[in-house]
Amino acid sequence: MDNNGYVMSLSSFFLILPAVLLLTVLVDMTVDQTNIQQDILNSQDVMGVATDLEASLPLVGREVLRDKSLEVIHSGKPLSNSRKEVKEELQNRMDSFCSRYCGDGMLVECKILNVDNSFDPFCVEVKSRCTVNKGTLKHQVNLTQNISLVNGSFPIYDPLPFIKCRNYGGATIKGDRTYYGSSLENYLKSRGIENFEAYENATSALSIKKCPYDPYILHGDTDELVNLKNCIDNGFYHESSDGSCFLCRLEGRGTCPHYGMETFITPAPSDNTLFSNPLGNVSLSNNSSNAPSSVDHVIFNDTGSHGTYSGCRLIYFTNGTHNFQIYLDNSHRQKYGLPNF
Ligand SMILES: [Zn+2]
Ligand SMILES: [Zn+2]
Repeated sequence: MDNNGYVMSLSSFFLILPAVLLLTVLVDMTVDQTNIQQDILNSQDVMGVATDLEASLPLVGREVLRDKSLEVIHSGKPLSNSRKEVKEELQNRMDSFCSRYCGDGMLVECKILNVDNSFDPFCVEVKSRCTVNKGTLKHQVNLTQNISLVNGSFPIYDPLPFIKCRNYGGATIKGDRTYYGSSLENYLKSRGIENFEAYENATSALSIKKCPYDPYILHGDTDELVNLKNCIDNGFYHESSDGSCFLCRLEGRGTCPHYGMETFITPAPSDNTLFSNPLGNVSLSNNSSNAPSSVDHVIFNDTGSHGTYSGCRLIYFTNGTHNFQIYLDNSHRQKYGLPNF
């Protein structure tokens, strides 16, 4: 090799150097670009799963509430700690829900932190922490969500009557109503409540539905009490500070310290042809003018001696043969805009 050649290769080295540097930068940029694109893909995956979790949790929670309620209705046995049991079951179902996303570098977890009352008695509040990991990305969010007892594709049943009447013959489901047969009068009789006979063959709402006659004084809006009749026929529930909340109903409590709900328990219609036939040898059990007030937290309040107080008969509908009636104390009459006695 002569000097000339050496000079040539040195100069060509200096000529090539920028090209090499440029290439290195370009390769680097491409790698960066790929990483950025991967990160974007990952973050789209992560956010998609996070959105999925947030939307699905209330639906899964609603199924848990429905299933817990059905479990209690079929067994007649109250849950000992409904908040804990709902939380555990919701955790189980969210674990299996999350497992469907795992694999492909994705880690998904939803931890149920708390299940308790919502400020709205027609909801149950769930607090959770959802974590979604993929690659270097981690998305974590704390959620507070309301599970609706009333708005959804399936109804949620009120378990309380089935627990209370379990040892007295049991309540049953007939169509969309809870049918008591003799169980409610036996339950009231066992507690020494007067005029228990009025509740032979009584019925009440089965699924929890929010009453649309709000403000509640609308129930007494017309002389014919058509709103009250519609409310009873539809089996609506009302907000109530005395009525028990859904979670306490699962534990068989007729009344509780939380802001809750109440519904009417309707005695069987009485035969109004009896009055014109006083010699007829028939039971007048449904014709007393006083009986336990027909509000579920009054009938099912077995915590003290004065929980179940009486009310005066209120006929809200009459056809040719029967009177449709409830018994109502004055404070509930006031609440629903109905005439005092
Ligand atoms: Zn109503
Ligand atoms: Zn409660």
